[in-house]
Amino acid sequence: MSPKAEIEIVRSVADLRARVRAWKSAGLTVGMVPTMGALHEGHLSLVRLAKTRADRVLASVFVNPTQFGPNEDFDAYPRDEGRDAELLAGAGCDLMFAPTVAEMYPPGASTTVTVAGVSEPLDGQARPGHFAGVATVVSKLLNQGQPDVAVFGEKDYQQLQVIKRLVADLDLPVEVLGAPTARAEDGLALSSRNAYLSDAERAQAPALGRALKAAAAALKGGARVDAVEAEALAAIQAAGFSSIDYFEVRGASDLSRLGPGPIVGEARILTAARLGKTRLIDNMGV
Ligand code: AMP
Repeated sequence: MSPKAEIEIVRSVADLRARVRAWKSAGLTVGMVPTMGALHEGHLSLVRLAKTRADRVLASVFVNPTQFGPNEDFDAYPRDEGRDAELLAGAGCDLMFAPTVAEMYPPGASTTVTVAGVSEPLDGQARPGHFAGVATVVSKLLNQGQPDVAVFGEKDYQQLQVIKRLVADLDLPVEVLGAPTARAEDGLALSSRNAYLSDAERAQAPALGRALKAAAAALKGGARVDAVEAEALAAIQAAGFSSIDYFEVRGASDLSRLGPGPIVGEARILTAARLGKTRLIDNMGV
């Protein structure tokens, strides 16, 4: 049996900086993949993409409390550091940064990064404060790791646009790459939160991806945005989703509202809905 791949884990910003400094002084480029752990094939596809673009890849595993609302699943969020480390090592990741909450937010920490505009609609409305938490922790992680390239998933499409905006606005010296959404065979977007689904809910869940696919095809065929959105809402409800935060067709980069007529130019369809207690999000380009 071949020995299991291993990965070095660092927990302090100082140790992370020392490793990255050593790589850079050897002339190596650095890619970074920020995650909240509970890793799956989607996360690993980001690591593999980063490896094609940088000599060394580091992944952070940090369940960031500031991006969870008071009634959200911060405590319940799945955590398994040993498994995450094994998966990262197997994907060829070179270093795992797993800081504590106290390392990331020492007493007295008082700065929040907010991105206006693109972070306001959709999840910005449904999850007040979420994107400020994301923008703050991503700004910190990018400053801590100082990567040349950072990879984020299109699965969290609005988050990707928020991060692109903040990197441009703050002149952060990093290239942001978006990676396509990894899906299960039945089309369900992979997510750490899929672990919350019961067997019955897991069987209902692919309806969200199917509604996006049908909407994308209809829009491509020249259908009106208002009709497509109404049809998708009805389909998702009929599939057993209990509350639908949104199913909307938006501009692909600024997420401005499109419609009510047929789309012109590049659009993104974004949705968030609950199956039981589990909130699922997904999106698709047109
Ligand atoms: P998370 O750990 O859920 O915060 O996600 C960490 C990174 O992985 C983010 O950039 C996500 O967009 C990305 N990601 C999560 N799920 C997927 C997926 N199914 N396909 C591609 N990327 C994903």
